[in-house]
Amino acid sequence: MTASNIRPLVAGNWKMNGLKASMVEALVIRDGVDDPALDGVDAMICPPATLIMALSEVVSGSKVVVGGQDCHVAQLGANTGDISSEILADAGATAVIVGHSERRGDHGETDALVRAKAVAAYRAGLTAIICIGETAGQRAAGLTLDVVNRQLLGSVPDEATAQNTIVAYEPVWAIGTGLTPTADDVEAVHAALRQSLIARFGDEGRAMRLLYGGSVKAANAAELMSIANVNGALVGGASLKANDFLGILAAYRA
Ligand code: PEP
Repeated sequence: MTASNIRPLVAGNWKMNGLKASMVEALVIRDGVDDPALDGVDAMICPPATLIMALSEVVSGSKVVVGGQDCHVAQLGANTGDISSEILADAGATAVIVGHSERRGDHGETDALVRAKAVAAYRAGLTAIICIGETAGQRAAGLTLDVVNRQLLGSVPDEATAQNTIVAYEPVWAIGTGLTPTADDVEAVHAALRQSLIARFGDEGRAMRLLYGGSVKAANAAELMSIANVNGALVGGASLKANDFLGILAAYRA
């Protein structure tokens, strides 16, 4: 498989948003994604943990899959308030986001911890969506490629394959701000990440999905999704409303 025939994925990260009433949005997404014109793209919703089981039932039988937003490294134990990859899988998740910048920033998560969480995801049969991305300060200092390559090396486990791992490049300064890098900048970062993945994992690295995340909206999705080595999007704010999310998926309309 070459980079050009990687099947794209648009994944929605609902973060700490979503009540039982949000199931209506999931229903609209499920039905919208059923459109044959969207046969060439996969869709995922990562709701708060409380909704994973119900949402999995709602989308069952469709091509929408469900992911968690974080997991603990352990399988079970005295870890109040945490959730394990096995619990996520038991609730119906098939993937889990690890190393989101909000986890790295708010909870002091290091590359080593993110890597351990990815291994925990594999243990439960989940795909790990491993997030990396530079801050505004690092970008201003010209350190973007150094930072993302270091995060890639430190956060992606040796056991990573194209099947069990997705890498999401999310510039921290672009998350929730309405700002995005230029297409040339995204292309340069994704090309560097692809090179690093191939150097480390060979054909598995060549086939691994590389998502872009950070203020993706219906209005900019077509441009961002057409960039070489961008195999889909990780979407925050614009994933909360079904029609906004479907507008992003529309970038892949046949
Ligand atoms: C995110 O937090 O993963 C994200 C990409 O957020 P937003 O789309 O709102 O920038």
